[in-house]
Amino acid sequence: METIDYWIEKRAEITPHREALVHGDKRWSYYELNESIYKMAVHLKDQFNIEAQDRIAILSNNRAEYLMAYMALAKLGAIVVPLNIRLTANELAFQIIDSGSKALIYEGEFSDMKDEIVTLSEIESAYSLDRWEEDETQTLPTNLTPPSDITSQSPFVICYTSGTTGRPKGAVLTHDNMYWNAINNITAIDITSHDRIIVLLPLFHIGGIGLFAFPGIVAGATSVIIGKFDTEQAIRTIEEEKISIVMGVPAIHDAVRKTSSFNTADFLSVRWFYNGGAPCPSDVYNAYLDKGLPFGGGFGMTEASPTIFMLSKEDYIEKRGSIGKPVLYCDAKLIDDSGKEVERGEVGELILKGPNIMKEYWKLPDETENTFKDGWLLTGDLMRQDEDGFFWVAGRKKDMIISGGENIYPLEVEQVIESLPEVDEVAVVGTVDPKWGEVPSAFISFHDGKALTSEEITAFCIQRIGKYKIPKYFYEVDELPRNATGKIAKTLLSPDAYADKLLV
Ligand code: AMP
Repeated sequence: METIDYWIEKRAEITPHREALVHGDKRWSYYELNESIYKMAVHLKDQFNIEAQDRIAILSNNRAEYLMAYMALAKLGAIVVPLNIRLTANELAFQIIDSGSKALIYEGEFSDMKDEIVTLSEIESAYSLDRWEEDETQTLPTNLTPPSDITSQSPFVICYTSGTTGRPKGAVLTHDNMYWNAINNITAIDITSHDRIIVLLPLFHIGGIGLFAFPGIVAGATSVIIGKFDTEQAIRTIEEEKISIVMGVPAIHDAVRKTSSFNTADFLSVRWFYNGGAPCPSDVYNAYLDKGLPFGGGFGMTEASPTIFMLSKEDYIEKRGSIGKPVLYCDAKLIDDSGKEVERGEVGELILKGPNIMKEYWKLPDETENTFKDGWLLTGDLMRQDEDGFFWVAGRKKDMIISGGENIYPLEVEQVIESLPEVDEVAVVGTVDPKWGEVPSAFISFHDGKALTSEEITAFCIQRIGKYKIPKYFYEVDELPRNATGKIAKTLLSPDAYADKLLV
C-alpha cells in the first residue's frame, strides 16, 4: 500500500482538471492542489530541515493551507500533530512536549498563542500559514527525494483525544489507517468524484480530516472549506456551492435548523446530512426528516480514524436514531464483562478490529496494552444491536451508573428528559447516595430559562422509564460545561458545584 500523499498525485494524474478544493473565492483543481502541496513540502523541508518521522504541530482554523500542510508533511514522511485551537497554551505546550514536536505551523491569528507556546515548550521553530501565498510564488518545485524508510504502516498523525476522562492521549494513526478509513467512508456513503463535500468539522479533529478531506481526495471529490464555523455562512455555502454531503456534530445541525433561513434554504443538492461524534437529540434529526431532508447517523472515534458505523440511505427513516451498521473494513462486536459476546438486544461494550484502528497511544505502552485485548480495541462505549443487526448507542462504560445493583445508562434517561419541550439540554450523571451507592442526577438547561419543577419532570419520566432510572435530583444550569471538542464535560457536573441550582 502507498502513503496517503500518493492519492493526491494519482488524482492529479487521472482527473487533473476536476475541482479538488474550494475556500472562499479560491479554487484549486487536482493538478493545482498537487503542485501547491509539492511546493509546500519543498518549502517546509527547507525551513525546518524536516527528516522522516519528525513531528510537526499545526495550530490553525480550517483553511486550504491546513490541508496542504497535512499532505506536504505526508510527502516528507513527517508526523502531523494537529492541535485543538480551543485549548490553553499550557495544554498545547503539553501536547507539543509529549509528542516531541520539532516545529509549529500556525495561523497568524494565533501568533500570541504561538509566542506563549514557544516559551513554554521551547519548540525550535515556527511558520505562519499566512505567509504561504507569498512564499509559494518564490518556491520552485525542485527535486524532493521521498524518504526511503517510510511505508504505509508508518505513523502519520498523532491525534490527541479529547480526554473526557484523564489526560489526553496521543492516538498514533498510520497512512494505512487513514487510507482504509477513507475507503470505509467512500463505500458507506458512496462518495464519488461528483460529490461536493462541505468541511464543517475542524481539521484539527480526526472528524475533519478523516471524514471529508481524505475520503474526498481518494474519491476525487471536491472539498469545500469554510474557515471558522458560522451558521449562516455554512447555509449560504451549501446553497451556492451545490454541496451534496454535509456532515456535522449535533451542535452544528441544531444551529442550522434553528436559523430563520432553515425553512427557506435551498438544500436540493444535498443528498446526505450526517451526524456523528455525539448522540443526536431526536428533535434535531426529526427537524430535518420532517422537511424531507435525508438525515442519517454515524459513529466514530479518534482511535478508529474515525468512522466505525454508518446508517445507510436505505434505512435512515425506518431506523432513525440508530448509528447503523459497521463500515466495510472494520469488525465490531459487543461483549460483556467476561469477554463473551452478548445476545442481540443486550447492552455490551463495543470492541473493534480492522485496518483503520490506531497503532498505539504515543509513548504510553501500558495504556496501549490495556486498550487492546487479543488484537481487539476496547472502546468503553456501550451499545445494543437490534434484531435486524442495527446498532444503538447506550452510553459510555465509565458513565454507567450502578444504583442499588441496577445498571442505569444515562443516555436512555437523557433521551426521555430531552423529549420534554421545555428542555434544551440535559446530562445525567451518577452522584453518591448513602442508601443506593449511586443515584442518577440530572443537570438541565431549559429553553428561555423556563424551568420545570422536579415533580413535573419526575411525573413525565414515570410513564416512560423504570423508577430506579429516574433522577433523584434535578439541577438547573444555564449551559452544560463542555470540553475543548464540544463534548459535555460530565466530570464537572457535581452536586457541590451546583448546590444552589437544585430544583425543588
Ligand atoms: P473522539 O475520539 O473525541 O472523537 O470521541 C469518540 C467518542 O465519542 C466515542 O468513543 C463515543 O463515546 C462518542 N461518539 C462518537 N460518535 C457518537 C454518536 N454518533 N453517538 C454517541 N456517541 C458518539
